[in-house]
Amino acid sequence: MWAVLAAAGSGERLGGERPKAFVRLGAQPLLAESLARLDASQWIDAIVVAAPPAWEEPVVLLAEELGCGKVSACVTGGATRADSVRLGLAEVPPDAAVVVVHDAARPLLEDSVVERVVTALGEGWDGAVPGLPLADTVKRVEGDRVVETLPRDELRAVQTPQAFVADVLRAALTGSDWTDCAAAVEAAGGRVKVVEGDPRLIKVTDAADLDRVAALL
Ligand code: C5P
Repeated sequence: MWAVLAAAGSGERLGGERPKAFVRLGAQPLLAESLARLDASQWIDAIVVAAPPAWEEPVVLLAEELGCGKVSACVTGGATRADSVRLGLAEVPPDAAVVVVHDAARPLLEDSVVERVVTALGEGWDGAVPGLPLADTVKRVEGDRVVETLPRDELRAVQTPQAFVADVLRAALTGSDWTDCAAAVEAAGGRVKVVEGDPRLIKVTDAADLDRVAALL
């Protein structure tokens, strides 16, 4: 069981000179939390980190400092998240059975969520994603005109970690750019299960998100 940790985003909406993975969360860079939690996961054997360009060495040093012995490789991320995952996946050995893809932008990773997505693969699914019901009603728009109201009961806000049968993910990710890996697997005809997500798996996009995560640490 391998994990690919996507940490190569620039984090423009957070401002500052550092990439998002190195923005401070308490005393540590944001990346530290997800990295340490993946390393401690009973479901993960080895980790590949996709680092922001020119930040590969700080990533390796951070992993050493945290005693993350499962980090097997650190690659330079790509221009998009899909590129970064592809580059990370290239370091996962061909005999890996399962790949769990996680965003460093979601620090509050609980092992129970990893367990839920990985367990779904054992049930025969090609992939599994954590999802939460929506509180808001979602509408499709064209410009400022509402063209459709989507049935809320059928919708889920999807998070990471996402788990996949390694060969299925590898084959699916060759194509175009997807906002999440599951979309690539779905488009390739794969069966993806949605399991219960975790409200604490907040995705850090702006300073207010960082404050919310810090309060939950
Ligand atoms: O940009 P966004 O917040 O959607 O990024 C989600 C995750 O993907 C983050 O953890 C970010 O570091 C990662 N990412 C990446 N390579 C990129 C863009 C984003 O690894 N080129």
